[in-house]
Amino acid sequence: MTGSDRHSSAKTVVVGSGPGGATVARGLARRGQDVLILERGAYHKPEGSYVNTFRMADRFLTLASIEGTQMVRLLTVGGSTLAYLGTAFEPPTWLKDRYGIDLAPYVEEVKRELKPTPVPERLLGEGAKRIMKAARAEGYDWRPMPHFIDWDRCGPRCRKLFAGSAGGAKWTARRYVEEARAGGARLETRMHVKRVLSSAGRVTGVQGVGRSGPFEIEAERVVLAAGGLGTAPIMQASGFPGAGEGVIIDPLVLTYGTYPGRGSSRDVPMGCGTLDLQDEGIIMMDCIDPWPWYLFGLLMGGPKAVAGFRQFPHTLGIMAKTRDGFAGAVRPDGTVSKPLTEDDRRLIARGVEVSSRILLRAGCDPASIVSTPPRGAHPAGTVRIGDQVDTDLQAGIAGLYVCDSSVLPQPMGMPPVMTIIALARRLVAEQLSA
Ligand SMILES: Cc1cc2nc3c(=O)[nH]c(=O)nc-3n(C[C@H](O)[C@H](O)[C@H](O)COP(=O)(O)OP(=O)(O)OC[C@H]3O[C@@H](n4cnc5c(N)ncnc54)[C@H](O)[C@@H]3O)c2cc1C
Repeated sequence: MTGSDRHSSAKTVVVGSGPGGATVARGLARRGQDVLILERGAYHKPEGSYVNTFRMADRFLTLASIEGTQMVRLLTVGGSTLAYLGTAFEPPTWLKDRYGIDLAPYVEEVKRELKPTPVPERLLGEGAKRIMKAARAEGYDWRPMPHFIDWDRCGPRCRKLFAGSAGGAKWTARRYVEEARAGGARLETRMHVKRVLSSAGRVTGVQGVGRSGPFEIEAERVVLAAGGLGTAPIMQASGFPGAGEGVIIDPLVLTYGTYPGRGSSRDVPMGCGTLDLQDEGIIMMDCIDPWPWYLFGLLMGGPKAVAGFRQFPHTLGIMAKTRDGFAGAVRPDGTVSKPLTEDDRRLIARGVEVSSRILLRAGCDPASIVSTPPRGAHPAGTVRIGDQVDTDLQAGIAGLYVCDSSVLPQPMGMPPVMTIIALARRLVAEQLSA
């Protein structure tokens, strides 16, 4: 949108182009509807470079809560799926049992289309196999996990899942954005939506700041899909002061250990793992940070720690992802408070303890076992179903919907992308098709 074109209109404005926004936009475009996607980030290219991941990441990967917990989100076309690892987990059963949200038909559609499948044997490297053997010896059902990845298209680039679509092998929300555009949807990048406009209880449009200055766009319907940290400030500025109260992030910790053989850096990240501790609130998978992130972490520990980078090729890594409780808030200026509670820390410690045991069993030097500080890659639950939105994802203004990770009404402790895509398909089919 140029400076002279600051006032525009669309039947539906979709704010944000992550899995929630992209799925809604594609569904509406395919139904022949007039859709405008407003995305805060740029259309970063090329994919496949870690430097570009830094550029796409909010604050170059230094985003943190005011308590100091690192959080990761990407501000780019496709949202955080440009760095997600493609693991595909089905929605929690409590969405149907407690909230009456039956996603089964939409999950079937997702599975038919994106065909999530476990990592094939031929792509399991020495590190992944070693961790699997050790975890099984410790009594865990450790196995390849399903991913939104076409393994037949997976070359060496599938080690670089943190940096884009791995040459098109990994599904990212950009694919749906492109399909939405092919169906007639418009995409405007570098458009930071600040507020939803309404009159007499009905949506009339959105307001924000774009690359050419302030803009205002008329719309009959607005779907907010700016993500777990992005949607709440827009809701607050639009007359929903309770939005943003309570945040979940699924805190994760990576535990590393070294041994003489080939480490995890050549494996598909989060390729294999176990759900055996899911009832406790922990899932575990093999994973190591890509080398630039790993090195960045060492730099924080000073020159002596940096010397440890020599061991990177021999480092095995296990990620423990935990289910946290709601705490803190997203504030109107976008800053986040997310204190980790005693319960959160206990669960994280348990994840580290099990990871360490597996790494020792895998032959790692006991002196080499270290863990990263907790971080959050799934900010969510800030505009919850049953709180700011109803089970149809409609907010208290006619024509206003929310469809992203912020609507999750309970902590999942699980990667949420399949749930978000299914929720978006349901929203289009059951609420927005007219
Ligand atoms: C490193 C990493 C690995 C992950 N691995 C997995 C995995 O394997 N499996 C899985 O299921 N999940 C994974 N996740 C989590 C997953 O990527 C996110 O939960 C998911 O992308 C959230 O989708 P969303 O639609 O809620 O928001 P997002 O993906 O955050 O998209 C929101 C979009 O809105 C835009 N936006 C924000 N504010 C505004 C505004 N004011 N105006 C306009 N646009 C705005 C943003 O730029 C962004 O494009 C991972 C995340 C990370 C960071």
